Amino acid sequence: MENWDLIIIGAGAAGLAAGIYGARSGLKTLIIDEKMAGGTTGDAPIVENFPGFAQVTGAELAEKMTLHCKKTGATLHELEVVSSLDLKGEKKIVKTNHSTYEATSVIIASGAHYREINVTGEKEFQGRGVSYCGVCDGPFFKGKRVLVVGGGNSACITTLYLSGLAAEVNVVHRRDAFRAENALVKDLESKGNVKVYWNTAVKEIKGEKIVKSVVLSDLKTGENKELSVNGVFVQVGESPNSQLAREAGVEAEEDGSIRIDINQRTNIPGVYAAGDVTNHPVRQIGTAVGQGITAALDAYSYIRRPYYRK
Ligand SMILES: Cc1cc2nc3c(=O)[nH]c(=O)nc-3n(C[C@H](O)[C@H](O)[C@H](O)COP(=O)(O)OP(=O)(O)OC[C@H]3O[C@@H](n4cnc5c(N)ncnc54)[C@H](O)[C@@H]3O)c2cc1C
Repeated sequence: MENWDLIIIGAGAAGLAAGIYGARSGLKTLIIDEKMAGGTTGDAPIVENFPGFAQVTGAELAEKMTLHCKKTGATLHELEVVSSLDLKGEKKIVKTNHSTYEATSVIIASGAHYREINVTGEKEFQGRGVSYCGVCDGPFFKGKRVLVVGGGNSACITTLYLSGLAAEVNVVHRRDAFRAENALVKDLESKGNVKVYWNTAVKEIKGEKIVKSVVLSDLKTGENKELSVNGVFVQVGESPNSQLAREAGVEAEEDGSIRIDINQRTNIPGVYAAGDVTNHPVRQIGTAVGQGITAALDAYSYIRRPYYRK
């Protein structure tokens, strides 16, 4: 069995940042990703909020991070799927579709996936008007008309954020009341440029190259209505990719996000989590990088200075 100091699961922003710090600290570091390295960063059409890059495509940023990580000496296994974890012992066992590895410490940086609404046009216009992140893409819709889909806390927070940028924010919700904190709902109701469509679902997203309109369906009357919008923000939930970790005994919140402390430690000694897979309240490239760094440095202490272990 191949032996490593540190194995990182996921080569997105969190995993690559952890890899840079692990390898530069002299740890024998392996990063495994089921896809090509770069993670979700590569899906962002344009990134305008990562310090040092006023404007960069997600693909370019992901490539730069990957090259940087490789240069530090971390070993990167792409297109290799982690299939099970055994984390309880002194040595952590990571099984993939290719091999079985052993490590003193493991960082779970497997990200999250946004839930989709699965309507015609959603896939076609992703990155061309359809977004899953208000903070990421809201500023591209300054002075425009947008639509938010959903009725929970994330939908309300996104609506409030967009109401300060867009000319008009329409919200569609399948029910007749929000399922969000009262304070958020009150704040939202006070906004003059927000309009809510209750008992309504999106039937189709239409456009030519970019989003132009949506077809809304009234769930009570069955009537359809076309609304012209420039952007659609889908906010119907996010699922952390934490199943393997949870099966191996890593504690998570109800929504599946891994519970971490300030050093990115999980409940299992030597096992860390970083980035979108965690219960950190902000899910951005910058925060994923910061968490990856913290995890790698604490893992370094765990591996090299075991006398400090609690
Ligand atoms: C369309 C879009 C636009 C965005 N725009 C911005 C923006 O402008 N600015 C910003 O700051 N943030 C933006 N974000 C959010 C940002 O991309 C994420 O917060 C950040 O990339 C998360 O990094 P991560 O490393 O935690 O996870 P990810 O980047 O998702 O990486 C996780 C990696 O783990 C791998 N993985 C998962 N399971 C396994 C397994 N079993 N075996 C092996 N590998 C596995 C995945 O393949 C993936 O590569 C955007 C997100 C999206 C979707």
